[in-house]
Amino acid sequence: MSEPSSSSRLPSATLTPTQHARHGRYPQATTVEDFRRNLAAVRARMDAACVRVGRNPAQVRLLPVSKTKPEASLRLAHAAGCRLFGENKVQEAAGKWQAMQDLEDMRWSVIGHLQTNKAKLVARFASEFQALDSLRLAEALERRLQLEGRSLDVYVQVNTSGEASKYGLEPDAVAACLKALAAYPCLRVRGLMTLALFSAEAEHVRRCFVRLRELRDRLRQDAPAGITLDELSMGMSGDFEIAIEEGATVVRVGQAIFGARPLPDSHYWPTGDDSGALAR
Ligand SMILES: *Cc1c(COP(=O)(O)O)cnc(C)c1O
Repeated sequence: MSEPSSSSRLPSATLTPTQHARHGRYPQATTVEDFRRNLAAVRARMDAACVRVGRNPAQVRLLPVSKTKPEASLRLAHAAGCRLFGENKVQEAAGKWQAMQDLEDMRWSVIGHLQTNKAKLVARFASEFQALDSLRLAEALERRLQLEGRSLDVYVQVNTSGEASKYGLEPDAVAACLKALAAYPCLRVRGLMTLALFSAEAEHVRRCFVRLRELRDRLRQDAPAGITLDELSMGMSGDFEIAIEEGATVVRVGQAIFGARPLPDSHYWPTGDDSGALAR
């Protein structure tokens, strides 16, 4: 990797605000043209964030997040060029996978907390799982993947916000987890994933992203053979530009592409006080 990995020393005039105040207000995308326009707008903002910190835009992937959206919306997004869809809940994802078998090039990324007893479902259809947070779950996934004759790209989820309510391993626990994961051949560890603090205070959000990047940089030095930790999945509609400035290689963007969701985010992860206020 030749990219500069540290970009936190931006001159203060260029500090990027969060867009969290727009949460819940994004207009619905209802036509292929809406999706094309939204995707192009998000991509342009991603590219501009890359340029600000001297990164190559080709090294940042956009993962469209389709949770809560009906099959018809996903089909429009597919027509606009999306092939990999992020879903938070595995049952919802599996239902969509079944319903859209006719689109053979659709692939699925499960990005939300998974109970061990649902590992079987992920092993059956997902191509990527971004919320690996325990060895028990890794073991269940490995066993099921072997039965299916499949493999899975995985990201270890890290709690960088210090909030007790957030899923993910504590940063101190990640090294031992990676060591153990090296023994599971069906799991291809790509990198780390995090959800930042949901806050309008851009600097608090940025600190979570910096923490994930610095953890990755440290872990890389003695990562087990075969685990390269190239990927950092961080940033969503309200904060993906900040995440890119801090080294994200994957941003998970839902509302800015599909439109606002009817359900508050407390449905997906427990939220703290200030997030509740903003989500309304
Ligand atoms: C919903 C979700 C996102 C995307 O959030 P938006 O605000 O819609 O961009 C990103 N990551 C995870 C884990 C999610 O559940």
